[in-house]
Amino acid sequence: MSKENTNTPAASNSSSTWAYAPAPEDTKHIRLQKQYGLFINGAFVKPNSKKYFATSSPSTEEKIAEVAEANEKDVDAAVKAARNAYNKTWKKMPAKERAKYIFRIARLMQERARELAVIESIDGGKPIRESRDIDVPLAANHFFYYAGWADKLQYAFPGKNPQPLGVAAQIIPWNFPLLMAAWKIAPALAAGNTVVLKPAETSPLTALKLAEIIQDSGLPPGVVNIITGFGKTGAAMVQHPDVNKIAFTGSTDVGKIIQKTIAGSNKKITLELGGKAANIVFEDVPIDQAVEGIVNGIFFNQGHVCCAGSRLFVQEGIADELIRKLKDRMNTLIVGNPLDKNTDIGAINSKEQLDKISSYIKIGVNEGAEIFQSACVLPKKGYFCKPTLFLHTSQSHRIVQEEIFGPVLAVQTFRTIEEVIEKANNIPYGLSAGVWTDKGSKIFNMTSKLRAGVVWANTYNKFDPSSPFGGYKESGFGREGGLHGLMPYLQ
Ligand code: NAP
Ligand code: MG
Repeated sequence: MSKENTNTPAASNSSSTWAYAPAPEDTKHIRLQKQYGLFINGAFVKPNSKKYFATSSPSTEEKIAEVAEANEKDVDAAVKAARNAYNKTWKKMPAKERAKYIFRIARLMQERARELAVIESIDGGKPIRESRDIDVPLAANHFFYYAGWADKLQYAFPGKNPQPLGVAAQIIPWNFPLLMAAWKIAPALAAGNTVVLKPAETSPLTALKLAEIIQDSGLPPGVVNIITGFGKTGAAMVQHPDVNKIAFTGSTDVGKIIQKTIAGSNKKITLELGGKAANIVFEDVPIDQAVEGIVNGIFFNQGHVCCAGSRLFVQEGIADELIRKLKDRMNTLIVGNPLDKNTDIGAINSKEQLDKISSYIKIGVNEGAEIFQSACVLPKKGYFCKPTLFLHTSQSHRIVQEEIFGPVLAVQTFRTIEEVIEKANNIPYGLSAGVWTDKGSKIFNMTSKLRAGVVWANTYNKFDPSSPFGGYKESGFGREGGLHGLMPYLQ
C-alpha cells in the first residue's frame, strides 16, 4: 500500500481561512495481505463457502483486500473451536495467567498502533487524527483495563462467586471497527469466556489485524475467533445452539430481529443500538466553547457515532449569536483525505451510507427546514458529505426523530428547562445527551431527568474504559465499559 490519496484538504477546502499544505500520513509501513481467510482456532483458514468479497477504501473507491465470506458451516467451525478452547484451556487456566495474555494483546496493539491507525483510516474513512489519537489508544486501553480485572473478579462482585458463561458471539458495526472489537473481546476474555467475533462487511481489516496480534500474543488457539461475512453470517452466529451469550452493536432494526430469534432460548444478550442525542446549550454558557463542543458532538467521525449530538437545543437568548458562530466554524472545517493530519472530516463509510444521508438531507429540505452547508469543496472521488445544519426544525420532523448517522445537525430553540427536557426525551432513543451550562446545579437537575445512558456536561464524545456506556428504550440494554461491562459476561 504505497499509493497516496490525492484528495488533499488544501485542495478540497479552498474557502477555509487558512490553506494548509497537504500532510498525508505515510502508508509504506503497513502490511496487508491481498486475501484474508477466517481466523479460526488460532489460524487463518480458507472459508468452507469458498467465497471472498472485496473491502475498499471509501475515500478513493479503490479495492484494498479480499476477505472471506463465512457461511453456516464456517460459523459452526468457529463456535466449535471456541467451545473446545473454553472447556480444555481457558476455563481451567488460573485467572492471573489469563490476565497476562490480555495485557500482552494490549501491549502488541500499542506497538503496532501506527499501522492499525492507518489501516482504520484507509478501510473506514475516518480522519487519521481520530484513529491515531482516539480509536487505537482507547482500544488498547480497554484491553489493559480489563486485564487488570481478570484475577480480581471476586473483589469486583463480593460474595457472588462470579463464573464465565461459555462461548460469546459478538457482532459489531462499521463506525469504530477496532474499538468495538476491543469493547467486546476484552471483558469477555477477562471474565473467562471464549469468543467468536464478526466485524462489519465494509470495515473488516483492523479486526483481522487484531487476529494477527492475537496470534502473536500466543493466546491459546480458539479462545478468540474472528470471522468475516455479511448479515447472514451474523444471523448464523445468533442462531447457533452452542452460543451462550450474544453481544450486538448495530442498528435498532437488526437488534429487534436478534431479540426475536433468541426468544425462549437460554442465551444471554446485550444490545447497543441507535441513538439521536440531544445536545442542550443554556444561555449562561461560554459560547465559543459550546460551539467547539457542538462541532465535536456531530461532525466527529463524520457523524457515524451512535451517541452523536445530532439534535441541538439552544436557549433563545443566545440562539442568533451561537448559530452565527457555528456557521463560521463549520466553514473552517477541512473535509477530505482521511490520511491527512489536517483533515477534520473524512469519508462517509460507504456509498450506501452516503445515499442514506443524502436522502435525509432532501427530506429535511422538503419538510421545510432551513438548510446551511459549509462552503467546502468536496473531493471528486470517494464518498464525502458537507457538514450540514438544519434550522427551524420541529419535533415532528423526520430529521429530528430518525437516526441519520451522518454529519447532519437539526437545530431547535427553547425557553425553559421543562420544555427542553420534554423535547429531549420525546424520542424513541435514549443513548446519550449533552448539557452546556455554567451552573453545576443545572447539570445535576438535567442528568437526573434526561432518559439517556450517558450525559456529558460541558464536553461531548468522551470515552474511558472505566466508564460504562449503553442505552435506554430503542437504544438497547446492557452496559459496556467499566465494572458494569463485566456483568453481562458472568453468571
Ligand atoms: P447493522 O446493519 O445493524 O449491522 C451491525 C452488524 O450486524 C454488522 O456486522 C452486520 O453485518 C450485522 N448484521 C446485519 N444483519 C444481521 C442479522 N440479521 N443478524 C445478525 N447480524 C446482522 O448496523 P450498521 O449499519 O453496521 O451500524 C450502524 C448502526 O449501529 C447505527 O444504528 C448505530 O447507531 C449503531 N451503533 C450503536 C452503537 C452503540 O454502542 N449503541 C455503537 C455503534 C453503532 P454486515 O455489516 O456485514 O451486514
Ligand atoms: Mg472498507
